[in-house]
Amino acid sequence: MIITKPREWARIQENLAGIGARRVFLIGCGQCATVAHTGGEKEVAEMAVRLETEGVEVTGWTVAEVTCHLNGTKLECRKHQEAIDAADAVVVLACGAGVQTVADSIPKPVFPGLESLFLGTVIRNGIFEERCQTCGDCVLDKTAGICPVTTCPKGLLNGPCGGMWNGMCEVLTDRECTHVRIRRRLDEQNRAGKGTLAPKDFSTALKPGGVNIRGQGGGR
Ligand code: SF4
Ligand code: SF4
Repeated sequence: MIITKPREWARIQENLAGIGARRVFLIGCGQCATVAHTGGEKEVAEMAVRLETEGVEVTGWTVAEVTCHLNGTKLECRKHQEAIDAADAVVVLACGAGVQTVADSIPKPVFPGLESLFLGTVIRNGIFEERCQTCGDCVLDKTAGICPVTTCPKGLLNGPCGGMWNGMCEVLTDRECTHVRIRRRLDEQNRAGKGTLAPKDFSTALKPGGVNIRGQGGGR
């Protein structure tokens, strides 16, 4: 899921002050931002109270089911048309994709209420770890399901590097070296050593990505 954190309050204030916004509508996200405790009902309601305390009128708020889903978000905005029309701006508590989806759905200034950090795993409630950089050329089949691109601080496909010590990473010294973990898991699963991975084709990571499963081929 996309991991987010609250945006610095001063930047939100600056965004609103920049257009002289005195009335605001808030939109959260029922998916990742809810799980991350950054843009669910509780966080949106808290932001509404904070804005009201600072003299900004909140014309309304909602938590869209999946804010990065264009048709669903357009529908959600239509349900709150009156309150959105009454607002000078909309602040979105969702990842950057969600913010852009709202901005594509309404003709109002739309501002981010969160910072998007990474694509990660929920280790347990409130603990998240980055696990994938969406490189478009996955090597997890050869690395026992452990991503070296993301979890090795140097992004080394082959390792360990010369700094590994007693199985631990030389950069993140409280963590086991990614390549030690990969080798151990491959051994535990009686899988042949991965050998040396060839250099990755980073053209597959060119931005912006796009997929059209209705069209021929799809892909980036
Ligand atoms: S190899 Fe690429 S696609 Fe696979 S998990 Fe790592 S960053 Fe993500
Ligand atoms: S010690 Fe291992 S995980 Fe750390 S930077 Fe070197 S190869 Fe990567």
